[in-house]
Amino acid sequence: LIELRGVNKYFGTQHVLRDIDLTVGRGEVVVVIGPSGSGKSTLCRTINRLETIGSGTITLAGRPLPEEGRELARLRSEVGMVFQSFNLFAHKTVLANVALAPLKVRGRKKDEAYADARELLRRVGLAEHADKYPAQLSGGQQQRVAIARALAMDPQALLFDEPTSALDPEMISEVLEVMQQLARDGMTMVVVTHEMGFARSAAHRVVFMADGRIVEDRAPGEFFTAPRSERARDFLAKIL
Ligand code: ATP
Ligand code: MG
Repeated sequence: LIELRGVNKYFGTQHVLRDIDLTVGRGEVVVVIGPSGSGKSTLCRTINRLETIGSGTITLAGRPLPEEGRELARLRSEVGMVFQSFNLFAHKTVLANVALAPLKVRGRKKDEAYADARELLRRVGLAEHADKYPAQLSGGQQQRVAIARALAMDPQALLFDEPTSALDPEMISEVLEVMQQLARDGMTMVVVTHEMGFARSAAHRVVFMADGRIVEDRAPGEFFTAPRSERARDFLAKIL
């Protein structure tokens, strides 16, 4: 579904993504881990062309991502993103936040968009909070709204960049549970996270990055029990 071939990316003279080859099949869950500055966020943003690339190709569902234009906007809306900061609109209700993009971008009818938004909020366990404002919710609840909002565009894949890093510990599990359920439902997901429990239980593959390269790309069972690279062994020793 998502394919990167020979992708390189520079910030000025800094080479932040080096010869990235990555294939994410439909329904696959790929967890991306690695030290700070290794290029994980840049990789996520690159998949969505929020960053330009120096060389290489990115295809979504067999279609090359163009540099710009309507085709890019259309393909980009096929891939939802969930960030560490939830970026909800403070002056809109939870329901309005979720319905916003389908209304504005897809031109959906208001009653349909709101009905779908209610259903998505039910799916992330927030049906009873639909008419509140984001500030009236906990961080974990706000992040679940952000997931519902990403789902509202009916994407083919979701990218998560450290979705639980800004949350208090007791709120992390409620967000991970929603993500686990999405994985079970067959959603294609690329997840940058330090939550190794999630990686073990939900990931089909773990991609370990260091210095802008993919150093390992393997099943979680193999990766966690017998990492091949020194870099990965060091990293795991620090976080486990
Ligand atoms: P973290 O775990 O801290 O989130 P990361 O693996 O997500 O790290 P990136 O944010 O992708 O790392 O950054 C990779 C490298 O690119 C870093 O050295 C960073 O300083 C650099 N970088 C990222 N964004 C920019 C930018 N907009 N302009 C210049 N350099 C950038
Ligand atoms: Mg990052």
